[in-house]
Amino acid sequence: MVIQLYTHSSLRNFTYLVEGSDGFYCIDPFDAAQVLENLPGKLLAVINTHEHWDHTQGNSELVSETGCEVWAHENAKGKIKAVDRFLSKGEVISLGGSKQFIVMDTPGHTHAHLCLLLVEDKKKLAVFTGDTLFNAGVGNCHNGGDPEVLYKTISEQFQEMDDEILVYPGHEYLGNNLKFTLNLEPTNQKAIDLTQKYEEDNLLVTNMKTEREINTFLRLENSEIINNLKGNTDNNKQVFLRLRELRNKW
Ligand SMILES: [Zn+2]
Repeated sequence: MVIQLYTHSSLRNFTYLVEGSDGFYCIDPFDAAQVLENLPGKLLAVINTHEHWDHTQGNSELVSETGCEVWAHENAKGKIKAVDRFLSKGEVISLGGSKQFIVMDTPGHTHAHLCLLLVEDKKKLAVFTGDTLFNAGVGNCHNGGDPEVLYKTISEQFQEMDDEILVYPGHEYLGNNLKFTLNLEPTNQKAIDLTQKYEEDNLLVTNMKTEREINTFLRLENSEIINNLKGNTDNNKQVFLRLRELRNKW
């Protein structure tokens, strides 16, 4: 079970509760009170995808209320307070039974950013992407990040990810990101259709197949996008960096 909590905040954060055999794991607690209200069982651990305050501010209250642990990227030492367990690339966290999180090292938005791949019965079900990959977008690099590193992460770890894997990002930015997609690629019918769906329900969950259809940062070889970009578009990396720059001013 995955519970997606929309925080109704100006930054449009998402927090997640993921069920294991012995209790729940909370990813990126924004509002501890909201987490406690929606928690169906024992909270075992908080996992922060990265160190930014809007992904960690619920930590201390959840620890004091439930006695849970705090887990974060090994590079978050000194950046996130009171971490009990530091996680590194490729680590497998058993959630009990046949369910696991696989820790992905995903620098770019910050250098202490992890994503979590949820696997059950060896099947990859979902990825919790924090501020690395959004629905129809990617994270910014303003606060301790590096767009060239983000390009490497997205192209090497997300570009080829299996179609059916669900994408659970750290923020609800789909509507605005679809506008960005359609500004660069006005004929993208999938983005037009999803915009209509979004107007009816703005808490949509996408999968990687859909992302490859609507996310400009995964469509770096699309000629319509390239034609609508000014500046250096000699290779995929340059297209990505141009898109990131444009999105910064969007
Ligand atoms: Zn962030």
